[in-house]
Amino acid sequence: MTSATVTQVKCACPSCVCIVSISDAIQKAGKYYCSDICADGHPTGSGCSHHGCECHA
Ligand SMILES: [Zn+2]
Ligand SMILES: [Zn+2]
Ligand SMILES: [Zn+2]
Repeated sequence: MTSATVTQVKCACPSCVCIVSISDAIQKAGKYYCSDICADGHPTGSGCSHHGCECHA
């Protein structure tokens, strides 16, 4: 079996612009996030710290 398909999705955080591959993403409740911070809804109010992304909803 060859399954080299790398599926990329946008982080499910609404204000986040990051694209993550499913294999690297943080999965939570069936959604994919670029980081634990996004997955947790930015509890500390800080962003995901990825360059060019200003999400901190
Ligand atoms: Zn981000
Ligand atoms: Zn994110
Ligand atoms: Zn975010």
